[in-house]
Amino acid sequence: MVDYIGVSDVQRIVQSIGIGTFIERLSRQIESDYRRWSDFEKSARLASHSPVGVIELMPTSNGRLYSFKYVNGHPKNTNEGLLTVTAFGALADVDTGYPLLLSELTITTALRTAATSALAARWLARPESRSMALIGNGAQSEFQAIAFRALLGIDELRLHDVDPAATAKLKQNLERCPEFEGVRLVVARSTAEACQGAEIVTTVTADKCNAVILTPPMIRPGMHLNAVGGDCPGKTELHPDVLRMPGARVIVEYEPQSRIEGEIQQMPADYPVTEFADLLAQHPRAGDSSNATTAGAGRRSASEITIFDSVGFALEDYSALCFLHELVQEQPEFGRKIDLVPRLDDPKDLFGGTLGAAGMKPRARLRAVG
Ligand code: NAD
Repeated sequence: MVDYIGVSDVQRIVQSIGIGTFIERLSRQIESDYRRWSDFEKSARLASHSPVGVIELMPTSNGRLYSFKYVNGHPKNTNEGLLTVTAFGALADVDTGYPLLLSELTITTALRTAATSALAARWLARPESRSMALIGNGAQSEFQAIAFRALLGIDELRLHDVDPAATAKLKQNLERCPEFEGVRLVVARSTAEACQGAEIVTTVTADKCNAVILTPPMIRPGMHLNAVGGDCPGKTELHPDVLRMPGARVIVEYEPQSRIEGEIQQMPADYPVTEFADLLAQHPRAGDSSNATTAGAGRRSASEITIFDSVGFALEDYSALCFLHELVQEQPEFGRKIDLVPRLDDPKDLFGGTLGAAGMKPRARLRAVG
Protein backbone atom coordinates (compact mmCIF):
# COMPACT_ATOMS: atom_id res chain seq x y z
CA MET A 1 0.00 0.00 0.00
CA VAL A 2 1.13 3.51 -0.78
CA ASP A 3 0.79 6.52 1.51
CA TYR A 4 -1.73 9.08 0.28
CA ILE A 5 -2.19 12.67 1.45
CA GLY A 6 -5.26 14.45 0.09
CA VAL A 7 -6.54 17.99 0.52
CA SER A 8 -8.40 17.18 3.76
CA ASP A 9 -5.28 15.45 5.14
CA VAL A 10 -3.08 18.51 4.50
CA GLN A 11 -5.75 20.66 6.15
CA ARG A 12 -5.61 18.42 9.25
CA ILE A 13 -1.80 18.30 9.29
CA VAL A 14 -1.38 22.07 9.01
CA GLN A 15 -4.12 22.72 11.57
CA SER A 16 -2.53 20.34 14.03
CA ILE A 17 1.02 21.73 13.63
CA GLY A 18 0.06 25.37 13.11
CA ILE A 19 0.68 27.05 9.77
CA GLY A 20 3.53 29.29 10.96
CA THR A 21 5.36 26.31 12.52
CA PHE A 22 4.67 24.16 9.45
CA ILE A 23 6.21 26.79 7.15
CA GLU A 24 9.16 27.30 9.50
CA ARG A 25 9.87 23.54 9.66
CA LEU A 26 9.44 23.16 5.90
CA SER A 27 11.82 26.07 5.27
CA ARG A 28 14.46 24.28 7.37
CA GLN A 29 14.00 21.14 5.26
CA ILE A 30 14.29 23.21 2.05
CA GLU A 31 17.45 24.92 3.30
CA SER A 32 19.01 21.62 4.30
CA ASP A 33 18.22 20.11 0.84
CA TYR A 34 19.63 23.20 -0.94
CA ARG A 35 22.79 22.61 1.10
CA ARG A 36 23.01 19.16 -0.56
CA TRP A 37 22.60 20.73 -4.03
CA SER A 38 25.26 18.59 -5.72
CA ASP A 39 23.47 15.36 -4.66
CA PHE A 40 20.44 16.17 -6.83
CA GLU A 41 19.69 15.49 -10.48
CA LYS A 42 18.60 18.84 -11.89
CA SER A 43 16.77 19.81 -15.05
CA ALA A 44 14.59 22.69 -16.20
CA ARG A 45 10.99 21.59 -15.90
CA LEU A 46 9.16 20.18 -18.90
CA ALA A 47 6.46 22.68 -19.92
CA SER A 48 3.49 22.21 -22.22
CA HIS A 49 2.19 25.64 -23.17
CA SER A 50 -1.23 26.57 -24.53
CA PRO A 51 -2.45 30.09 -25.38
CA VAL A 52 -4.08 30.35 -21.91
CA GLY A 53 -1.75 28.48 -19.60
CA VAL A 54 0.91 25.91 -18.96
CA ILE A 55 1.15 22.36 -17.59
CA GLU A 56 4.54 21.37 -16.19
CA LEU A 57 6.33 18.28 -14.89
CA MET A 58 9.05 18.83 -12.28
CA PRO A 59 11.24 15.80 -11.46
CA THR A 60 14.35 15.41 -9.32
CA SER A 61 16.26 12.67 -7.51
CA ASN A 62 19.17 12.33 -5.10
CA GLY A 63 19.79 8.68 -6.02
CA ARG A 64 17.87 7.46 -2.98
CA LEU A 65 14.50 9.13 -3.44
CA TYR A 66 12.84 10.39 -6.62
CA SER A 67 10.05 12.98 -6.78
CA PHE A 68 7.96 14.70 -9.37
CA LYS A 69 5.24 17.32 -9.39
CA TYR A 70 2.51 17.97 -11.95
CA VAL A 71 1.54 21.64 -11.82
CA ASN A 72 -0.47 24.01 -13.99
CA GLY A 73 -0.65 27.80 -14.29
CA HIS A 74 -3.79 29.28 -15.87
CA PRO A 75 -4.28 32.95 -14.91
CA LYS A 76 -7.71 33.10 -16.62
CA ASN A 77 -9.06 30.24 -14.48
CA THR A 78 -10.25 32.43 -11.61
CA ASN A 79 -12.80 34.05 -13.98
CA GLU A 80 -14.29 30.56 -14.36
CA GLY A 81 -14.33 29.77 -10.64
CA LEU A 82 -11.16 27.66 -10.86
CA LEU A 83 -7.73 27.98 -9.25
CA THR A 84 -4.85 29.48 -11.26
CA VAL A 85 -2.43 26.86 -9.88
CA THR A 86 -3.20 23.22 -8.97
CA ALA A 87 -0.70 20.43 -8.36
CA PHE A 88 -0.11 16.88 -7.20
CA GLY A 89 3.01 14.75 -6.99
CA ALA A 90 4.75 11.62 -5.81
CA LEU A 91 7.80 10.47 -3.89
CA ALA A 92 9.37 7.15 -4.90
CA ASP A 93 12.11 4.77 -3.76
CA VAL A 94 14.94 4.79 -6.32
CA ASP A 95 16.07 1.30 -5.34
CA THR A 96 12.80 -0.40 -6.31
CA GLY A 97 11.11 2.36 -8.30
CA TYR A 98 8.05 1.86 -6.09
CA PRO A 99 6.01 4.95 -5.17
CA LEU A 100 6.05 5.73 -1.44
CA LEU A 101 3.69 8.69 -1.34
CA LEU A 102 1.10 10.25 -3.61
CA SER A 103 0.10 13.69 -2.44
CA GLU A 104 -1.99 16.71 -3.22
CA LEU A 105 0.39 19.60 -3.87
CA THR A 106 -1.93 22.56 -4.49
CA ILE A 107 -1.98 23.77 -0.88
CA THR A 108 1.51 22.34 -0.43
CA THR A 109 2.87 24.36 -3.39
CA ALA A 110 1.56 27.55 -1.76
CA LEU A 111 3.21 26.49 1.52
CA ARG A 112 6.55 25.53 -0.06
CA THR A 113 6.65 28.66 -2.28
CA ALA A 114 6.03 30.85 0.74
CA ALA A 115 8.59 28.90 2.80
CA THR A 116 11.20 29.31 0.04
CA SER A 117 10.44 33.03 -0.40
CA ALA A 118 10.76 33.76 3.30
CA LEU A 119 13.86 31.55 3.59
CA ALA A 120 15.59 33.49 0.80
CA ALA A 121 14.44 36.79 2.34
CA ARG A 122 15.83 35.81 5.73
CA TRP A 123 19.26 35.51 4.11
CA LEU A 124 18.90 38.52 1.84
CA ALA A 125 16.67 41.19 3.37
CA ARG A 126 18.18 43.73 5.75
CA PRO A 127 17.69 42.26 9.24
CA GLU A 128 15.70 45.29 10.41
CA SER A 129 13.11 44.85 7.60
CA ARG A 130 9.63 44.80 9.15
CA SER A 131 7.40 46.29 6.42
CA MET A 132 6.46 44.34 3.29
CA ALA A 133 4.42 45.35 0.25
CA LEU A 134 2.39 42.43 -1.08
CA ILE A 135 1.31 42.97 -4.70
CA GLY A 136 -1.14 40.37 -6.01
CA ASN A 137 -3.59 39.26 -3.33
CA GLY A 138 -4.84 35.98 -4.83
CA ALA A 139 -4.48 32.35 -3.78
CA GLN A 140 -0.79 32.45 -2.83
CA SER A 141 -0.90 35.74 -0.92
CA GLU A 142 -1.95 34.62 2.60
CA PHE A 143 0.77 31.95 2.55
CA GLN A 144 3.41 34.54 1.63
CA ALA A 145 2.18 36.90 4.34
CA ILE A 146 2.20 34.19 7.02
CA ALA A 147 5.67 32.94 6.00
CA PHE A 148 7.17 36.44 6.22
CA ARG A 149 5.48 36.99 9.56
CA ALA A 150 6.79 33.65 10.89
CA LEU A 151 10.34 33.83 9.55
CA LEU A 152 11.09 37.56 9.48
CA GLY A 153 8.71 39.07 12.02
CA ILE A 154 7.05 41.40 9.49
CA ASP A 155 4.79 43.79 11.41
CA GLU A 156 3.38 45.88 8.56
CA LEU A 157 1.86 44.58 5.32
CA ARG A 158 1.00 46.96 2.50
CA LEU A 159 -1.51 45.29 0.19
CA HIS A 160 -2.39 45.96 -3.41
CA ASP A 161 -4.22 44.11 -6.18
CA VAL A 162 -5.95 45.39 -9.32
CA ASP A 163 -8.95 43.46 -7.98
CA PRO A 164 -10.09 45.18 -4.74
CA ALA A 165 -12.13 42.10 -3.81
CA ALA A 166 -8.91 40.04 -3.68
CA THR A 167 -7.34 42.57 -1.29
CA ALA A 168 -10.48 42.61 0.88
CA LYS A 169 -10.37 38.78 1.02
CA LEU A 170 -6.68 38.78 2.00
CA LYS A 171 -7.19 41.44 4.68
CA GLN A 172 -10.17 39.59 6.15
CA ASN A 173 -8.30 36.26 6.18
CA LEU A 174 -5.26 37.78 7.88
CA GLU A 175 -7.38 39.62 10.44
CA ARG A 176 -8.80 36.23 11.49
CA CYS A 177 -5.33 34.68 11.74
CA PRO A 178 -3.89 34.59 15.29
CA GLU A 179 -0.39 35.06 13.82
CA PHE A 180 -1.44 38.51 12.58
CA GLU A 181 -2.58 40.00 15.85
CA GLY A 182 -0.94 43.41 16.12
CA VAL A 183 0.25 43.44 12.48
CA ARG A 184 -0.61 46.65 10.63
CA LEU A 185 -2.50 45.95 7.39
CA VAL A 186 -2.50 48.89 4.96
CA VAL A 187 -4.59 48.79 1.78
CA ALA A 188 -2.82 50.78 -0.94
CA ARG A 189 -4.46 52.30 -4.03
CA SER A 190 -1.52 51.47 -6.29
CA THR A 191 1.64 49.39 -6.37
CA ALA A 192 3.71 52.57 -6.02
CA GLU A 193 1.79 53.53 -2.87
CA ALA A 194 2.20 50.00 -1.46
CA CYS A 195 5.97 50.19 -1.98
CA GLN A 196 6.28 53.48 -0.09
CA GLY A 197 8.06 52.76 3.17
CA ALA A 198 8.29 49.00 2.51
CA GLU A 199 11.66 47.30 2.96
CA ILE A 200 10.55 44.11 1.22
CA VAL A 201 8.31 43.88 -1.86
CA THR A 202 6.66 40.59 -2.81
CA THR A 203 5.03 40.41 -6.23
CA VAL A 204 2.74 37.42 -6.67
CA THR A 205 0.47 38.44 -9.53
CA ALA A 206 -0.86 36.26 -12.35
CA ASP A 207 -1.05 37.41 -15.94
CA LYS A 208 0.29 35.53 -18.95
CA CYS A 209 2.25 38.50 -20.26
CA ASN A 210 5.33 40.65 -19.63
CA ALA A 211 3.53 42.66 -16.94
CA VAL A 212 5.20 45.71 -15.47
CA ILE A 213 4.39 45.53 -11.77
CA LEU A 214 7.59 47.13 -10.43
CA THR A 215 9.51 50.00 -12.05
CA PRO A 216 12.75 51.69 -10.85
CA PRO A 217 11.05 54.71 -9.19
CA MET A 218 9.33 52.32 -6.74
CA ILE A 219 12.63 50.78 -5.64
CA ARG A 220 15.04 52.19 -3.05
CA PRO A 221 18.57 51.09 -2.16
CA GLY A 222 18.58 48.29 0.42
CA MET A 223 15.21 46.82 -0.61
CA HIS A 224 14.63 43.11 -1.00
CA LEU A 225 12.35 42.07 -3.87
CA ASN A 226 10.65 38.69 -3.85
CA ALA A 227 9.36 38.23 -7.41
CA VAL A 228 7.15 35.14 -7.38
CA GLY A 229 4.56 35.58 -10.16
CA GLY A 230 6.86 35.69 -13.21
CA ASP A 231 7.49 32.00 -13.79
CA CYS A 232 7.00 31.22 -17.47
CA PRO A 233 8.41 32.31 -20.82
CA GLY A 234 6.68 35.61 -21.67
CA LYS A 235 5.36 35.98 -18.06
CA THR A 236 7.32 38.47 -15.94
CA GLU A 237 6.59 41.14 -13.32
CA LEU A 238 9.64 43.43 -13.12
CA HIS A 239 10.49 46.14 -15.62
CA PRO A 240 13.90 45.09 -17.05
CA ASP A 241 15.34 48.41 -15.81
CA VAL A 242 14.79 47.17 -12.24
CA LEU A 243 17.27 44.38 -13.01
CA ARG A 244 19.69 46.97 -14.40
CA MET A 245 19.54 49.26 -11.35
CA PRO A 246 22.94 50.02 -9.78
CA GLY A 247 23.47 47.77 -6.78
CA ALA A 248 20.90 45.17 -7.92
CA ARG A 249 21.77 41.50 -7.51
CA VAL A 250 19.59 38.62 -8.66
CA ILE A 251 19.42 35.32 -6.80
CA VAL A 252 17.84 32.38 -8.63
CA GLU A 253 16.98 28.82 -7.73
CA TYR A 254 18.38 26.85 -10.70
CA GLU A 255 20.00 29.08 -13.30
CA PRO A 256 19.20 27.08 -16.49
CA GLN A 257 15.48 27.04 -15.61
CA SER A 258 15.40 30.68 -14.47
CA ARG A 259 17.04 31.86 -17.73
CA ILE A 260 13.96 30.44 -19.52
CA GLU A 261 11.22 31.30 -17.03
CA GLY A 262 12.35 33.95 -14.56
CA GLU A 263 12.58 37.72 -14.62
CA ILE A 264 16.07 37.28 -16.09
CA GLN A 265 14.59 35.91 -19.35
CA GLN A 266 14.44 39.64 -20.21
CA MET A 267 18.21 39.99 -19.85
CA PRO A 268 21.18 38.89 -22.00
CA ALA A 269 22.44 35.33 -21.44
CA ASP A 270 25.55 36.62 -19.62
CA TYR A 271 23.59 38.76 -17.11
CA PRO A 272 25.16 37.73 -13.77
CA VAL A 273 23.09 35.81 -11.23
CA THR A 274 23.80 33.92 -8.02
CA GLU A 275 22.25 30.52 -7.39
CA PHE A 276 20.69 30.24 -3.94
CA ALA A 277 22.67 27.04 -3.24
CA ASP A 278 25.94 28.92 -3.93
CA LEU A 279 24.90 31.65 -1.56
CA LEU A 280 24.20 29.09 1.18
CA ALA A 281 27.53 27.35 0.51
CA GLN A 282 29.30 30.59 1.45
CA HIS A 283 27.55 30.46 4.84
CA PRO A 284 28.05 27.03 6.37
CA ARG A 285 25.87 27.73 9.39
CA ALA A 286 22.17 27.05 8.82
CA GLY A 287 19.78 29.98 9.04
CA ASP A 288 17.32 30.12 11.88
CA SER A 289 14.75 32.74 12.77
CA SER A 290 16.09 32.81 16.32
CA ASN A 291 19.65 33.29 15.04
CA ALA A 292 20.18 36.96 14.35
CA THR A 293 23.69 36.42 12.95
CA THR A 294 22.46 34.78 9.74
CA ALA A 295 19.66 37.32 9.08
CA GLY A 296 20.66 39.30 6.00
CA ALA A 297 24.06 37.56 5.91
CA GLY A 298 23.65 36.82 2.19
CA ARG A 299 23.70 40.50 1.14
CA ARG A 300 26.90 42.26 0.20
CA SER A 301 26.00 45.67 1.59
CA ALA A 302 23.15 47.48 3.32
CA SER A 303 22.36 49.35 0.09
CA GLU A 304 22.32 46.32 -2.23
CA ILE A 305 18.95 45.69 -3.93
CA THR A 306 18.50 41.96 -3.60
CA ILE A 307 16.06 40.27 -5.98
CA PHE A 308 14.89 36.71 -5.41
CA ASP A 309 13.74 35.73 -8.91
CA SER A 310 11.51 32.86 -7.79
CA VAL A 311 10.09 30.45 -10.36
CA GLY A 312 9.80 27.36 -8.15
CA PHE A 313 12.26 24.49 -8.45
CA ALA A 314 11.69 20.71 -8.21
CA LEU A 315 13.95 20.47 -5.15
CA GLU A 316 11.42 22.49 -3.10
CA ASP A 317 8.68 20.00 -3.98
CA TYR A 318 11.04 17.14 -3.13
CA SER A 319 11.58 18.77 0.28
CA ALA A 320 7.84 19.21 0.78
CA LEU A 321 7.07 15.60 -0.20
CA CYS A 322 9.83 14.29 2.13
CA PHE A 323 8.57 16.50 4.95
CA LEU A 324 4.99 15.23 4.49
CA HIS A 325 6.18 11.63 4.17
CA GLU A 326 8.13 11.87 7.43
CA LEU A 327 5.06 13.30 9.14
CA VAL A 328 2.86 10.37 8.05
CA GLN A 329 5.57 7.90 9.07
CA GLU A 330 5.61 9.44 12.55
CA GLN A 331 1.84 9.91 12.76
CA PRO A 332 0.03 7.48 10.40
CA GLU A 333 -3.32 9.13 11.20
CA PHE A 334 -2.14 12.17 9.19
CA GLY A 335 -2.48 10.22 5.92
CA ARG A 336 -4.20 7.26 4.31
CA LYS A 337 -3.14 4.13 2.42
CA ILE A 338 -4.16 3.44 -1.17
CA ASP A 339 -3.70 0.41 -3.41
CA LEU A 340 -1.78 2.24 -6.11
CA VAL A 341 0.47 -0.75 -6.88
CA PRO A 342 -0.69 -4.41 -6.96
CA ARG A 343 0.63 -6.78 -4.27
CA LEU A 344 1.27 -10.19 -5.72
CA ASP A 345 2.35 -13.58 -4.37
CA ASP A 346 4.10 -14.16 -7.70
CA PRO A 347 5.36 -10.86 -9.17
CA LYS A 348 5.55 -12.50 -12.62
CA ASP A 349 1.83 -13.31 -12.50
CA LEU A 350 0.34 -9.81 -12.75
CA PHE A 351 -2.66 -11.12 -14.70
CA GLY A 352 -3.39 -14.10 -12.49
CA GLY A 353 -2.98 -12.11 -9.28
CA THR A 354 -5.22 -9.24 -10.37
CA LEU A 355 -7.58 -9.78 -13.29
CA GLY A 356 -7.26 -13.57 -13.53
CA ALA A 357 -8.79 -16.28 -11.36
CA ALA A 358 -6.89 -15.54 -8.13
CA GLY A 359 -7.52 -11.80 -8.28
CA MET A 360 -11.16 -11.55 -9.36
CA LYS A 361 -14.02 -12.18 -6.96
CA PRO A 362 -16.63 -14.67 -8.36
CA ARG A 363 -19.38 -11.99 -8.93
CA ALA A 364 -16.98 -9.65 -10.65
CA ARG A 365 -15.82 -12.55 -12.81
CA LEU A 366 -19.41 -13.40 -13.77
CA ARG A 367 -20.17 -9.75 -14.62
CA ALA A 368 -17.05 -9.54 -16.68
CA VAL A 369 -18.07 -12.69 -18.60
CA GLY A 370 -21.79 -11.78 -18.87
P1 NAD B 1 -4.30 34.09 -8.46
O1 NAD B 1 -4.84 34.17 -9.84
O2 NAD B 1 -5.10 33.44 -7.40
O3 NAD B 1 -3.90 35.57 -7.93
C1 NAD B 1 -3.21 36.48 -8.71
C2 NAD B 1 -3.65 37.88 -8.33
O4 NAD B 1 -2.84 38.83 -9.08
C3 NAD B 1 -5.10 38.18 -8.70
O5 NAD B 1 -5.82 38.58 -7.55
C4 NAD B 1 -5.01 39.30 -9.74
O6 NAD B 1 -6.07 40.23 -9.65
C5 NAD B 1 -3.67 39.93 -9.35
N1 NAD B 1 -3.06 40.74 -10.41
C6 NAD B 1 -2.95 40.47 -11.73
N2 NAD B 1 -2.34 41.48 -12.37
C7 NAD B 1 -2.03 42.41 -11.41
C8 NAD B 1 -1.38 43.68 -11.45
N3 NAD B 1 -0.95 44.18 -12.61
N4 NAD B 1 -1.22 44.35 -10.29
C9 NAD B 1 -1.69 43.85 -9.11
N5 NAD B 1 -2.33 42.66 -9.03
C10 NAD B 1 -2.49 41.93 -10.17
O7 NAD B 1 -2.88 33.35 -8.61
P2 NAD B 1 -1.97 32.71 -7.46
O8 NAD B 1 -2.25 31.25 -7.30
O9 NAD B 1 -1.99 33.60 -6.26
O10 NAD B 1 -0.54 32.79 -8.18
C11 NAD B 1 0.07 34.03 -8.36
C12 NAD B 1 1.25 33.87 -9.28
O11 NAD B 1 2.28 33.13 -8.62
C13 NAD B 1 0.96 33.11 -10.56
O12 NAD B 1 1.54 33.82 -11.64
C14 NAD B 1 1.62 31.77 -10.37
O13 NAD B 1 2.04 31.19 -11.60
C15 NAD B 1 2.81 32.16 -9.51
N6 NAD B 1 3.37 31.09 -8.70
C16 NAD B 1 4.73 31.03 -8.59
C17 NAD B 1 5.30 30.05 -7.81
C18 NAD B 1 6.80 30.02 -7.66
O14 NAD B 1 7.33 29.06 -7.10
N7 NAD B 1 7.49 31.02 -8.08
C19 NAD B 1 4.50 29.12 -7.13
C20 NAD B 1 3.12 29.23 -7.23
C21 NAD B 1 2.55 30.21 -8.02
